[in-house]
Amino acid sequence: MKIGRNDFSSLDIDKIKLIYLFTTIGSVVLISVAFLHFIKGDINMFAFEILVATGGILNAILLKITKNVKIAENFILLGMLILICGILVHGGYQRTGIYWIYTYPLLTFFLKGNRIGILWNVIFLFLVLVLMFLDYKNAVPIAFSADEIRQAILAYVIVMVLAYIFEEALLKSYSEVSRLAVTDQLTGLYNRYYIFNKLNDEIKRAKRFQRSFCVILMDIDNFKNINDKFGHDVGDFVLFEVAEVLREITRSIDTVGRLGGEEFIVICPNTDIVGGKITAEKIRSSIEKLHIPHVGKITVSVGVAEFTGDETAHELIKSADLALYKAKRSGKNKVELFSKRGNIIRFGIDLLQIKKPASVGRQ
Ligand code: GH3
Ligand code: MG
Ligand code: MG
Repeated sequence: MKIGRNDFSSLDIDKIKLIYLFTTIGSVVLISVAFLHFIKGDINMFAFEILVATGGILNAILLKITKNVKIAENFILLGMLILICGILVHGGYQRTGIYWIYTYPLLTFFLKGNRIGILWNVIFLFLVLVLMFLDYKNAVPIAFSADEIRQAILAYVIVMVLAYIFEEALLKSYSEVSRLAVTDQLTGLYNRYYIFNKLNDEIKRAKRFQRSFCVILMDIDNFKNINDKFGHDVGDFVLFEVAEVLREITRSIDTVGRLGGEEFIVICPNTDIVGGKITAEKIRSSIEKLHIPHVGKITVSVGVAEFTGDETAHELIKSADLALYKAKRSGKNKVELFSKRGNIIRFGIDLLQIKKPASVGRQ
């Protein structure tokens, strides 16, 4: 599973914190320096710094109102770009303005990720080079020698490459940690944590678009016997084989997970109880046909519940579990359905006769 940078809502929270912190410290420092320039009679620099500080504060207010992190990120980077170029033209206090350029790579890569970050850095470097060229032509009152700027740019490129590598490594570990957090280690299917998040998302989507969806819960029959007879490792292998069948049988839009022990779940979006029953039956019969080395044949019992508009994730699982329990009690190796009224539904079977099973099968 590949996870993009924008999949991390916690990262967005970190970005928001950084933007507020940066704006607060930045504007306090900038306004203080602006007043020092004012006292010294440097009105141009005073106006420039007050302008940038005001832009930063307005940006933070806009972020608070709109909650649009992307716009705020771009404004912060643009503001910093203008500020640093301004300081470069001016020279900065005792010619220290050039040091500010090194804040840019870390900020850009953190806020924009590596690809767009490179773009911002290239634009920034280009502007610094233009300023250097204009200085060479005596067009701007820049206070650095060409040698100084050349060295500074070389150092900047090194900082930029290091920041890039660091960000890449960080993103990889984020991606790996996120993958591990949602994966069942034994089968490679989604784990319980992910399944409940997915169910809650699916409930929201189904409510929004007035669609139904199905939850298929299945449990391996007499699994304890397999463990007792062949050992835990063979039991684990059986779990893995069952997971493989589920992966093959389900559609790519379905979500397959292991809830724990020998209990699996499939969430089928845009599927009513009729489609749910047919999919469940396909799962049951495919597992029945499976031949597992040493163990031979295994069977599963399956419970299906349909979302009808107001169930919670826990209620849906409970409903599917009741149907599963009924399948177990009535002899195992069966599919049972659950209705909202708390009974195992009868009309689901009737519906099968009048509806075409168009939604069933791999897409
Ligand atoms: P039923 O048909 O009623 O479902 O009976 P069962 O034997 O399948 O169910 P029971 O709940 O009695 O036993 C489930 C067994 O699953 C007991 C437990 O040791 C085993 N189990 C749970 N997690 C794992 C696992 O990760 N690996 C293996 N090998 N066994 C597991
Ligand atoms: Mg079992
Ligand atoms: Mg069980």
